[in-house]
Amino acid sequence: MSQILIVEDETHIAEGLRFNLEAEGHGVKVVENGEDALRTLLQEKEPFDAVVLDVMLPGKDGFTVVRELRQAQDYVPVLILTALGRPEDVLIGFEAGADDYLPKPFNLDILMARVESLLRRKKWLKETSSTAPTVAGSSFRFGDKLVDFEQLRLHSGNRVFQLTLMETDLLRFLITNSGRPVSRKAILENVWNLHEDTDTRAIDNFIVRLRRYIEVDPANPKHLLTVRGVGYEFVAEPEG
Ligand code: CA
Repeated sequence: MSQILIVEDETHIAEGLRFNLEAEGHGVKVVENGEDALRTLLQEKEPFDAVVLDVMLPGKDGFTVVRELRQAQDYVPVLILTALGRPEDVLIGFEAGADDYLPKPFNLDILMARVESLLRRKKWLKETSSTAPTVAGSSFRFGDKLVDFEQLRLHSGNRVFQLTLMETDLLRFLITNSGRPVSRKAILENVWNLHEDTDTRAIDNFIVRLRRYIEVDPANPKHLLTVRGVGYEFVAEPEG
């Protein structure tokens, strides 16, 4: 049974979500503000498999909550749910460290599908790491870097970066398509399961972050190339 934390100050939305998630067999806890969410996750260390997080909350907003979680090295999958559906808000949400994003008013079936998608990824990661630590495809080495897809870590020389679920998934998708350009739209569809008319600039933020981890000079990338008019291309072994 998966445990899901709902952070939502509107009771009717919170209870609707609880009802539907429990009907799918999940355990649900509801808190009404960001401070309670942070205390539950960081201090009380209650284990959750996913968080559904509203943005407009009394006190700390949802963006601040996810940012503080990531700063505290907590990488629980977070889906942000908000009335703020403007492209710049989507960007802020992803930049803060959210894994997925759904604007209000939301379609319940879509929300449930997105939550299940986060839980599946989490479960897959858990299973591969506990049963088959050396399973093929669980890590990828290029140059002096090693991506550990199970532990969501990127080893770069002596440094280790903890990646979020979506950073890992994006890197996996780019590596899987090594040597050919992939469009932002393909990335959104394959990594985020987004088919709506989402602003594809959200991707650029993630690329900037990944470059900070894997490039010697992020402004002059060798592995994670911009392909003008198309999108991005991963190159494992740059020439020269
Ligand atoms: Ca709210």
